[in-house]
Amino acid sequence: MNREDELAEALADVESRLRAAARAAGRTRDELTLVAISKTWPAQDIVALHALGVTDFGENRDEEARDKAAALMGLRGAGLRWHFVGSVQSSKARSVASYADVVHSLDRLSLLRALSAGAVRAGRTLDVLLQVSLDGDQRRGGAVATDVPALAAATERVPGLRLAGVMAVAPLGADPSKAFADLAVTAARVRADHPAASWISAGMSGDLEQAVAAGATHVRVGSALFGHRPPILR
Ligand SMILES: *Cc1c(COP(=O)(O)O)cnc(C)c1O
Repeated sequence: MNREDELAEALADVESRLRAAARAAGRTRDELTLVAISKTWPAQDIVALHALGVTDFGENRDEEARDKAAALMGLRGAGLRWHFVGSVQSSKARSVASYADVVHSLDRLSLLRALSAGAVRAGRTLDVLLQVSLDGDQRRGGAVATDVPALAAATERVPGLRLAGVMAVAPLGADPSKAFADLAVTAARVRADHPAASWISAGMSGDLEQAVAAGATHVRVGSALFGHRPPILR
């Protein structure tokens, strides 16, 4: 099978999972945004999925994301949006702010300031999601839930950023349903103060059903679309 057909088949499978998960939760597919996590995969794969109707793509490393965004500049006008889903070093914030439309991993004040400055400098407004650490282990990124309301308030006060909602990755080995239920509590708390911050980015290839059941609006799907990533050599 050629790569285009392989991607089309994988997309059809993911779409049917999304429709079934939405139906099971009394929701509809159009409440969900599929973010195709294209890290490690070539730009041609993005072009192929875009031709099949996927508009949102996510990357987790600045250099790779920047190169792909530059190579695919022509698809901007055709609705392509870039999501940054990895941890952002503050020194990379200016670069990320120059091409990303959505940053899912805002988790600290120093990064907030750096992203705001980068967005202003680029003359852009970024949608940002506050990443929540569901197990309190911040080494994998994310703010602890009790710090999120203050971070949300700070986000509303700076130029160049729009507070869009919250994001999390289910902790390794945790029950994803429990993790995403915890995220929903933090999401509701943020929404109480900031009604427009309605996005919940949760769910990946292995746990998108549990995330949709818990109210996710954005699912981040990599391997179920592209296949298994080769090991990253650094
Ligand atoms: C890689 C990645 C994903 C996609 O994971 P899959 O299991 O391949 O679907 C989602 N979210 C983040 C933050 C990632 O880094």
